[in-house]
Amino acid sequence: YKTLLESPWRFDFPALCNFSNDKLTWLDSAATTQKPNMVIDCITQYYQQGCANIHRAQYPLATKITRGFENVRQKVADFLHAQSSDQLIFTRSTTESINLLAYGLESYLPNTGNIVISALEHHANLLPWQQLAKRKGLKLIVLPFTQEGIIDLEIAETLITNQTRLVAISQMSNVFGTLQPIKQIIELAKKFNALSVIDGAQGIVHHPTNVTQLNCDFYVFSGHKLFAPEGVGILYGKAGSLTKLNHWQFGGEMVQSADYETAQFYPAPLGFEAGTSAIGAVLGLGAAIDYLNAQNRTDITAHEQALIHQLLTGLLQRKSIHVLGNPHSSLVSFYIEGMHPSDISHLLAEQNIAIRAGQHCCMPLYQTLGLNGAIRVSLALYNNSADLQCFFDALDKAIELLT
Ligand code: PMP
Repeated sequence: YKTLLESPWRFDFPALCNFSNDKLTWLDSAATTQKPNMVIDCITQYYQQGCANIHRAQYPLATKITRGFENVRQKVADFLHAQSSDQLIFTRSTTESINLLAYGLESYLPNTGNIVISALEHHANLLPWQQLAKRKGLKLIVLPFTQEGIIDLEIAETLITNQTRLVAISQMSNVFGTLQPIKQIIELAKKFNALSVIDGAQGIVHHPTNVTQLNCDFYVFSGHKLFAPEGVGILYGKAGSLTKLNHWQFGGEMVQSADYETAQFYPAPLGFEAGTSAIGAVLGLGAAIDYLNAQNRTDITAHEQALIHQLLTGLLQRKSIHVLGNPHSSLVSFYIEGMHPSDISHLLAEQNIAIRAGQHCCMPLYQTLGLNGAIRVSLALYNNSADLQCFFDALDKAIELLT
């Protein structure tokens, strides 16, 4: 148990192995993750050995990079257990993937009925639907959550009806650290022929996911939370669901033919990747997936569980600390009675401890909770018990100072 608290993966992440005095304690992996050497080397190589645009030129460098880029599409397909790499669209981020859906489905969706989300969604999975609902005159229905921080299934069963056109929920909450009953909610949506969208931004990092088994229409995530560079996101769609999307961004390499009046667009994925993609970042995502595939995911889960247990035990031992919901894995949010979360995070920042105070892009959720914010500690495979010790020492000092 004790050795589980020491991370065998730590040394793969150079940013976390800087032993100078201002050593970084990184407890903000839900915001973004540090990158392993494999990813850094891949990007360096790409620029050192020559970059090129893809799907265009015939010279050897361009064909090599195009092949590498398309290999990553296949790697992502395998990673998600998608049936075909044609079901994977490269976007910029989770946010862009959801916006693509909200614009791409606008003509397909009827003008009556409702869109269902949950009360714990990140703004990225709220605002695009809120705005789409306004444009279409659809009702936005918000599923409540239980005290544990889990979408209330019983209520979901009454609110998802034959009027529901689309259901969009997250796999794992970025505030409660709870896994959501996505399988059941996808089934409910199916029962009424509603489309289902899963925001996997947090979930994919900690939970191996099989989109074919889940049977969702769409699944999205961001590379940067999965140890890859910023600038690449994923939109997976079932074959029959992707054809419901209208093209949304127009430009180079997404068009079969064009004249001044009309154009014929490619189907997914290329028809939804207008302009030059973040090629280096996509290659980096491939390296991140290679890195993860080379690890034992069960060991990673056990390690993260052991750390979360240590974190939760430590928090609950301190009086006046309240943990939000009942976290399952990798992240915990809490508040301290009588203390402002940002005062705590400022004091910890002085010791180079990276945590997040605030509303974590979930303002309506915090309004529901009646809180002005919370402190979030989020972990990944590279954290160890020393990081938590460092955090608790600094937290105790901060509490003493503010009392
Ligand atoms: N959904 C969830 C659950 C998230 O945690 C985040 C990132 N905090 C996002 C969506 C948005 O991700 P990105 O900023 O990479 O688009």
